[in-house]
Amino acid sequence: MAQKHPKAQRRSKAVRKMECANCGAEARVVRGSYDFTESGLKHVRLQGIELIVCDKCGNVDPILPRVNDLMRMLAVAVIAKPYRLGGDEIRFLRKYLRMTGDEFGRLLHINRTNLSKWENDEDKVGAQSDRLIRVIALSLGEGLKGKLEEVIRKFPEIQDEPAAVRIDMDTEKMSYRYVEAA
Ligand SMILES: [Zn+2]
Repeated sequence: MAQKHPKAQRRSKAVRKMECANCGAEARVVRGSYDFTESGLKHVRLQGIELIVCDKCGNVDPILPRVNDLMRMLAVAVIAKPYRLGGDEIRFLRKYLRMTGDEFGRLLHINRTNLSKWENDEDKVGAQSDRLIRVIALSLGEGLKGKLEEVIRKFPEIQDEPAAVRIDMDTEKMSYRYVEAA
């Protein structure tokens, strides 16, 4: 065996403990993946993230690093998705813009009921409204303007059929990839 690194070894053996937010018991901190439903998006998985795991009540809470960067990267991942936007994604982008349904509807020239139908997957968003939503989000969304040209140039690749893809976020590298859901 090659030379060992006693320091690193000791560190990896030490288990960090934190209090469970649900029951107050001492919980373990482990690294793993987490389905980030708190984002409001149905198919986002955070990879390599620290999790507070409570053996007593079964509660699992993620420790979100650099939340603002994370949410911005998630917004880019949604906007650059090469498939038609789903209802949860439209709602996510509207909320990223901190807009009400009325405000967002006025920008898109659609009424609130139609927007609500899109957001609840009761009606398909049209291809052009889909692109308009992406452009508005890129232009007005905090920290997204720098991505405008890169993302718009990829618009021709967007497929108008919906597809079950998951967004996997690497929270350490702050990068994302699309994973075809099985
Ligand atoms: Zn607990």
